[in-house]
Amino acid sequence: MKNMIFASPAIVKKMFCVAVAVTVAYVAPHVTGFALHRPTSTIIATNSPVTFIRRRHEASLSSLFLSAEKISSDGVASVIPSLAEAASVISGAASLLRGKTVVVKYGGNAMTSPELFDLFCEDVATLQNLGIRVVVVHGGGPQISNMLERTGIESKFEGGLRVSSADVVEIAEMVLGGSVNKNIVSGICSHGGRAIGISGKDDSLLRCTKRGGEPDLGFVGEVESVNTSFIEGLLDMGLAPIIAPIGVGVDSDPITGLPVTFNVNADTAAGRIAGELRAARVLFLTDIKGVCDGEMELLPALGVEEVQALIDDGTITGGMIPKVSYAVDAVKMGVDGGAFITDGRVPHALLNEIVGGGTSGFGSGMGGTVITL
Ligand code: ADP
Ligand code: MG
Repeated sequence: MKNMIFASPAIVKKMFCVAVAVTVAYVAPHVTGFALHRPTSTIIATNSPVTFIRRRHEASLSSLFLSAEKISSDGVASVIPSLAEAASVISGAASLLRGKTVVVKYGGNAMTSPELFDLFCEDVATLQNLGIRVVVVHGGGPQISNMLERTGIESKFEGGLRVSSADVVEIAEMVLGGSVNKNIVSGICSHGGRAIGISGKDDSLLRCTKRGGEPDLGFVGEVESVNTSFIEGLLDMGLAPIIAPIGVGVDSDPITGLPVTFNVNADTAAGRIAGELRAARVLFLTDIKGVCDGEMELLPALGVEEVQALIDDGTITGGMIPKVSYAVDAVKMGVDGGAFITDGRVPHALLNEIVGGGTSGFGSGMGGTVITL
C-alpha cells in the first residue's frame, strides 16, 4: 500500500484530498467544534482551599483541529496521527466513563436554536454509543413564557425562580412534559440514540414539598426525594431518561385530596438527581460562558466555599444562583467528577466537555466553569 502511494502521485493526491476532506469536514466539526470558538487555556489555578487545576489533557480534541491544519502543509502522513489522536482522546474518556452516569441540564440557547438542538441530540446519541449512561433534565423557560403570553397568563421571576400560580404550573406541565420533552426524545432517537421522556410525576420520580421563604413562589417545588431506582432501571435498559422538571407533592391537596403538581427549577432537579445517583459528572448547559466575576471575566474553576461568597457579595445573581447552588449540592453529595457550568451556545458543547479531556477526567478544560469540592 505504502509502495503504491509512493509509486503513484495521482493516488497520493487523491488520498490526501479524501483524508483532508474527511478530517476537516467530518471529524473536526463533530468533535472539535469547540476549538474554533474557545481560547485554548491550559493551566488555571483557583483561590479554592483545595486548589483545582483545570487543564487540557495533552491529547485533547482541540489538538485534532490543529493537526487538521497541519495536514495542508505536511501531507498524508499527518492525517493518520490526527485521527489516531482523536480516537485516543475519545477512547480515553470512554474508558473512564463507560458504564457511568452523566447528568445533563439542558437549557438556554442550546435548546432554542434548531441547529444547536440537533447537535445536542446527536451528542447524546454519541455518548450512548460510547457506553456512557446519560440522563437529561431539561428546562423550557422561553417556551413556557411564550405559551403564557399566548394564553394571557402573567408570571414573573424572583431570585431566578418563576413564581408559579396554579395556572402557571398547568401551562408549565403542558409545555415541559408535552412538546419540549417529546421533541428532545425524538431528536435523540433520530440520531440513533435511545431515549424515553418522563416527568417527575412518573413513578413518583420527584417528590416535592412547597418551597418556603419569602417571597411566596406559589407551586415551586423543593425536591424531597428522587426515585433513583426508576432512573437506574431505565438506564439499565439502554434508555436515556429525558426528564421534565415537574414534581408531585409528598402530600395531597388537603381540600380535593388530589396529588399536587409542582414546578421545579430544572437546575435544582438536575443537581438533586445527579447527587442522588452519585453520577460521575453533572453538566449545566447555559447561555453564558460560565460563572463570571464582577468584570464578566470567566471563573474557570471554583471550590464549593467560593460559590457562596460570590452569591453573598452579589457577583452571582438571578438564574445563576440555583445553577451554582445545586451544582455545589451535587458535588457535596458525591458527584466526584465535578459540576460543569458549560457554554451551551457552542456547537457540540456536551460531547466536547464530556470526552474532550481524554483521560484527564476534568472536562475539555477549554472554557466554562468547573465546581469541585
Ligand atoms: P439557563 O437557561 O441556563 O437556566 P438562566 O438565565 O437561568 O439560564 O441563568 C444564566 C444567567 O445567569 C446568565 O445568562 C446571566 O445573565 C446570569 N448570571 C448572573 N450572575 C452571573 C455570573 N456571576 N456569571 C454568569 N452569569 C450570571
Ligand atoms: Mg435558569
